[in-house]
Amino acid sequence: GFADLLAEELKGALNPDQKRFVGHVQRDSRHLLELINDVLDLSKIESGRLELHLEQFNAAEAIAETMASLRPLAENKQISINEMVDPVLRITADRLRFKEILSNLVSNAIKFTPEKGQITIECVERSDGILCAVTDTGIGIDPSEQRAIFDKFYQVGSTTRGIREGTGLGLAITKNLVQLHSGIISVKSTPGAGSRFQFTLPQVGSETAVKESADGRISWSGL
Ligand code: ADP
Repeated sequence: GFADLLAEELKGALNPDQKRFVGHVQRDSRHLLELINDVLDLSKIESGRLELHLEQFNAAEAIAETMASLRPLAENKQISINEMVDPVLRITADRLRFKEILSNLVSNAIKFTPEKGQITIECVERSDGILCAVTDTGIGIDPSEQRAIFDKFYQVGSTTRGIREGTGLGLAITKNLVQLHSGIISVKSTPGAGSRFQFTLPQVGSETAVKESADGRISWSGL
């Protein structure tokens, strides 16, 4: 916060070197904050202390809220974003965590897609639940690395060169959040052509039922 105040120069002008230094402080402290938040999130999930607050909500609205903060990043790179979501589609999930899953996937898609690329967000209802996918026309992921990217701290060496601002925890958190909903996340990718990350969210309904155990944890059954 104080670095931001300095950068605003309301208390006096900075010379070019000072501006550069304050810029480093801002960027590095944001990165540190992201890292701390990710580590805390992951350890909370791993200790089994993350509880889902399931509710029914409109998918398109939750996606629009998520995209509000991400769209400017895409615009900076002239990346177009297509949304293929039925405006009346309703999802039962933890709304906050659903947005976190989507935000992680879309921010990766933006990060690893060169300028003028394309990102598509889809959510559809299927007999066994909701299927959402984030597809990009980015650098892609080698088949030999497609499993490891869901591991903690794993970053594809050659692709992240120069885009090192991530923590390597986003996909590990995302996978855990999807699994907490009893869903499955997977990736299909062709190096140089793009990637498609898709996840399922089983829904309460004919085939599924939500069970709340004695310790308050929620699980799905009936699939
Ligand atoms: P990071 O903080 O590095 O983004 P993630 O766990 O979210 O960490 O992703 C792990 C690695 O998987 C990334 O560093 C990158 O190498 C690769 N990756 C993730 N999403 C994509 C994508 N859409 N296109 C290409 N590579 C990706």
